[in-house]
Amino acid sequence: MNTYANTVNGKPVVSDKTFESLNPANGEPIGRVPVSTHQQVKDAIAAARAAQPAWAARPDAERKALMMKVAGVIKANADYLAEWVTREQGKPLGGIGPDQVPGSRFELWGCEVWTQVPASLDLPVDLAFEDETRRDEVHRRPFGVIAAIAPWNWPLLIAIWQIVPSLRAGNTVVIKPSEYTSIGTLEMVRLIAEVLPPGVLNTVSGAGEVGALLVDDARIDKIMFTGSGATGAKIAAQAAKHLTPTTMELGGNDAAIVLPDADPKAIAMGLFWGAFINMGQTCACAKRLYVPDSLHDAVVAELKVLCETMPMGDGMNAGTVMGPMQNRMQFDKVSRLVERARADGANVVCGGAPAKGPGHFYPLTLVTGIDDGAPLVDEEQFGPVLPVIRYRDVDDAVARANRLDVGLGASVWSADVERARAVAARLQAGTVWINQHGMIHPMVPFGGTKGSGWGVEFGVDGLKAVTQPQVISIRR
Ligand code: NAD
Repeated sequence: MNTYANTVNGKPVVSDKTFESLNPANGEPIGRVPVSTHQQVKDAIAAARAAQPAWAARPDAERKALMMKVAGVIKANADYLAEWVTREQGKPLGGIGPDQVPGSRFELWGCEVWTQVPASLDLPVDLAFEDETRRDEVHRRPFGVIAAIAPWNWPLLIAIWQIVPSLRAGNTVVIKPSEYTSIGTLEMVRLIAEVLPPGVLNTVSGAGEVGALLVDDARIDKIMFTGSGATGAKIAAQAAKHLTPTTMELGGNDAAIVLPDADPKAIAMGLFWGAFINMGQTCACAKRLYVPDSLHDAVVAELKVLCETMPMGDGMNAGTVMGPMQNRMQFDKVSRLVERARADGANVVCGGAPAKGPGHFYPLTLVTGIDDGAPLVDEEQFGPVLPVIRYRDVDDAVARANRLDVGLGASVWSADVERARAVAARLQAGTVWINQHGMIHPMVPFGGTKGSGWGVEFGVDGLKAVTQPQVISIRR
């Protein structure tokens, strides 16, 4: 079995201590991952520090061109990297395009596009004020060295969201992938780093302790974190020690509200993928579905057909639409939430009975007869189970959607966009989608409110988030 290496200062770095990465479809080991030592973390930060001034001093056009080169590397290696995502994360290979299963090839296509877009964006100088006495310009400067800490659900795509805008803006990066999905990221960075100057992009690997070493280092100028709220809180507390700025992309518990005028047949497929893409292991999945009494049975019936007909299996096999869950911890959490709902009298309409076996296969599950306050509704399940909750009227639905302390996304489903828009304006969420859910775009800012974090990624706002303003004030 191969041991994969970190990339530090353009060179491969291994460690004495390693751990196995496991295939979630069958529990088999697929490679060994180094556990970076404290010294290796320090070395990676030192390499990024040393490379940063020259990287930031390059003409903007050169950094843009290099980022386009990076997009080319991703495209050229998309098949290889997509196979790693499937073997390590579980999602099926799938394809690219509206009629294809959104799996690993879709993730790699996203990596390419989310590289091209920041590469093509500019941050022009803003003129804040000008008169006969003074001229005040706002320039955007890079922070310096960015520490990126990534989760396991979309391992390569989220790494790219953290890496590319940061580099494009003149920062250098040290990234720590999730310990559950390290190899794909180590391999992607190895390939990308070949077209970049040494030290511009570095990796360290290992579990949370290695992330904590990064966060604790005073030479880190900004932290980009994507993961759970609990870890985000620890990182924010630790970052306070050096007053290190952070971007926090945390968990959510997105409500989807179906309005009484919606057509259950027309919305079923959008709702299904909104809730079950990547086996529900997506930050902005619909995790609570609110329906009026009048549509409850019809919506549930439409979703049940879809849940029962999507083939589930090893993502490497052609025809697989749903893969395994990524890890046992998450599988056990979903099992516990469904069992608790059942014990409390809820109705498991489909799924809910996972087969035994080494793979983490949990069937697509719908639960009705459940209300707010139940753990399955109030906790982020982050898995292939959707609770369906009846509401009385729109005020009731809005109050239910807003009652939790998270607010990443939400959606409103209606035949009347203006009616949906009025409801959307009342929802506490970073994004409210209308007649779609989770449909992010590289030009459109994305981020959470309340306990779902702070700061945004994507588009011009995302690029600004990895820079700091500097005012040049000229007397006349
Ligand atoms: P996690 O918080 O367990 O781990 C995320 C990363 O943090 C991992 O790399 C982990 O090793 C590292 N880490 C753990 N403890 C640390 C510490 N003390 N210091 C520094 N780093 C530490 O999250 P996860 O289980 O990998 O991901 C799932 C969660 O992420 C869900 O809640 C999901 O909603 C959220 N998420 C949010 C977004 C978003 O954009 N808002 C996107 C994807 C996932």
